[in-house]
Amino acid sequence: MTWTVIKRHGEKMTIYDYLIVGGGIAGSVCARELGKRGKKCIILEKNSSQSEKVCGGGVSYKALGMLEKTGIETESLFLTDSKRITGHIIFQDGKYKEKIYEGGKISLGIRRALLDGCLICAAKYYNVQIKYGEEVKNVFRTGELYEVNGFWAKEIVWASGARSIFGETLNGQSIGLSGQITAKTDLEDNRFHYWYFEKQNSEKYFWAFPVGNHLWNVGVWSRNFERRLKEDYQYCMEKFFLNRTIGEWGYLRKPRAEFLGHCDQRKEDCFRRSGIGDFAGTCNPVNGGGIHYAIKSAVEYAERQQEESFTP
Ligand SMILES: Cc1cc2nc3c(=O)[nH]c(=O)nc-3n(C[C@H](O)[C@H](O)[C@H](O)COP(=O)(O)OP(=O)(O)OC[C@H]3O[C@@H](n4cnc5c(N)ncnc54)[C@H](O)[C@@H]3O)c2cc1C
Repeated sequence: MTWTVIKRHGEKMTIYDYLIVGGGIAGSVCARELGKRGKKCIILEKNSSQSEKVCGGGVSYKALGMLEKTGIETESLFLTDSKRITGHIIFQDGKYKEKIYEGGKISLGIRRALLDGCLICAAKYYNVQIKYGEEVKNVFRTGELYEVNGFWAKEIVWASGARSIFGETLNGQSIGLSGQITAKTDLEDNRFHYWYFEKQNSEKYFWAFPVGNHLWNVGVWSRNFERRLKEDYQYCMEKFFLNRTIGEWGYLRKPRAEFLGHCDQRKEDCFRRSGIGDFAGTCNPVNGGGIHYAIKSAVEYAERQQEESFTP
């Protein structure tokens, strides 16, 4: 691995090959993939540590398979306070549909702070550096180099989630509101549960995912921006979740709303070359599989960079 070091005002400066804005799923996987290819990477993350994100914490078996392909051993994720998920249940128009994943495939219910922490560790294995508490607000270009928060790099990768650092959002972004609840329930704790709560409207659903021991991630998702998201959440909580709890319950993380980054990944123009993860609009609008697409876009970005560096 080569580190380019230049002297500026008599000070030694490291020049990174890639500076990645955001230490979420896409940022950490991309940095690891680039690091694996001998690139010197730094991640700047605005939070001061791995914090709990607004996310359902449902990691599909496809996403786990993708991580495995990159060489990340995912079995250890099941050793944390997380849940093995072997199928899902959908309640719609008075009907109940259960799907057990074929071939014994296993998905994962987990808190994002745990998952993101593991992915950062996996990136560090390839000498990726991460700086917490570094919110990127400006990027400066000097000649061939970028300067961001006093760090210098040849390339920048945007992995800042559903919003760009300049507050830009994509057309047609959907929105979700979720919280984490500690409760005993009579729901099966090896299933993702979905309820479509408006008749013949599959553009909104309520979910309850087990993400730890007596720990549930519950929330509502809407395909279109909704002002009545909180009301929908309260309605669904009472109608579908609270009547399934046994004894006391409480919030580990109070409900918060966040955009999801998809426009529609089936349309090719959705992908932006400079961005990965939700910012590139990769989230799946049907099953909320944003984590899978965040990983996919990160891996593809690193592969494209390698191909380009081989092209004469
Ligand atoms: C309510 C809700 C529920 C969801 N549930 C699921 C689910 O169950 N399963 C699933 O697969 N997907 C789910 N998603 C989608 C999933 O959360 C995203 O697709 C995934 O987090 C995208 O990863 P990412 O790396 O692009 O972004 P993120 O994981 O959001 O990471 C972006 C990182 O960038 C940092 N950052 C942002 N701006 C800056 C800045 N200016 N400077 C420095 N750092 C910055 C952020 O702090 C963050 O750590 C859900 C989304 C929402 C909103």
